Amino acid sequence: MSWDIIILGSGPAGLAAAVAARCRDKNVLVIGNRWQDSPLAKAELVDNYPGLPGLTGPELLEKFVTHASTLGAEFVVGKALSLLVWNGFSVTVGSQVYQGRALVLAPGVVRAAKYPGESEYLGRGVSYCATCDGMLYRNKPVTVVGLAPDAPLEANYLKSLGCQVVYVSPHRPQGLDGGIPYVQAGRLAIHGEQAVTSLEADGTSIPCAGVFILRRAVAPTDLLPALETEGGVIKVDRSMSTNLPGVFAAGDCTGGALQVSKAVGEGHVAGLSACEYLDAL
Ligand SMILES: Cc1cc2nc3c(=O)[nH]c(=O)nc-3n(C[C@H](O)[C@H](O)[C@H](O)COP(=O)(O)OP(=O)(O)OC[C@H]3O[C@@H](n4cnc5c(N)ncnc54)[C@H](O)[C@@H]3O)c2cc1C
Repeated sequence: MSWDIIILGSGPAGLAAAVAARCRDKNVLVIGNRWQDSPLAKAELVDNYPGLPGLTGPELLEKFVTHASTLGAEFVVGKALSLLVWNGFSVTVGSQVYQGRALVLAPGVVRAAKYPGESEYLGRGVSYCATCDGMLYRNKPVTVVGLAPDAPLEANYLKSLGCQVVYVSPHRPQGLDGGIPYVQAGRLAIHGEQAVTSLEADGTSIPCAGVFILRRAVAPTDLLPALETEGGVIKVDRSMSTNLPGVFAAGDCTGGALQVSKAVGEGHVAGLSACEYLDAL
């Protein structure tokens, strides 16, 4: 499955990018959580979006979604777990891979403090995607750090591959296979040598070859480690281009005013810039 432009994030910035790109007749896939779960859906009143005063967050978002889908944008509901830059961009959601020639990042603000050792061992035992990397740990001991609602299912999947799974999270999970031990813990650290050797959970060491950290969202810099940031936000120029060819960014993820109208404006520019990039190829 291949699209001209893949847009990561179904908030105002991503949807504005989708509208702009559809107006240039590019085919567009928007990957994001259910719009009802977006931050704006929690707003009781959005009174500063020009031309549409007095709407609730969900009402405004629904208008954006309807506009983009009426113009022909396609949607996949789910979390982008990994991204491969080769012959365009391949984005993994669950067990599916979606291919695009240009990429617009509009994931909003992903707030997640890293655990000690997490960045150091990323790709050397630390993974954010059981579906992508599970086979590498077949028949090995792994821990799953469950911070997302779908984490128990991912842990069950790893067990079905033959991994010896220990599930660690601050809250008791629902839907976890009864054969998977559960450890309640919040203070975590990852230890290793060349690769991961253990997870420390509230002071107790759990030996393992892999640590799957499953959060609600994956930061764009974890998906694309070469992505340049500045002050914790994605660095863009006025065309919303990042430092990576074919990759654009818009909305809260670029910093500045965390507001709908700014996200929409940047999304529009990012969508147009992605079209220009494709036309120039
Ligand atoms: C309670 C509340 C009230 C607000 N009120 C106002 C207001 O009155 N006026 C105003 O202008 N602004 C308001 N805001 C701010 C506004 O919601 C944001 O500025 C705006 O939504 C930013 O849009 P965005 O598209 O950049 O990001 P978001 O709206 O955050 O959308 C990004 C989407 O991408 C998804 N995502 C992230 N990573 C991934 C991934 N790896 N895979 C798939 N999906 C992913 C996220 O889950 C999210 O759904 C409010 C925010 C909140 C929380």
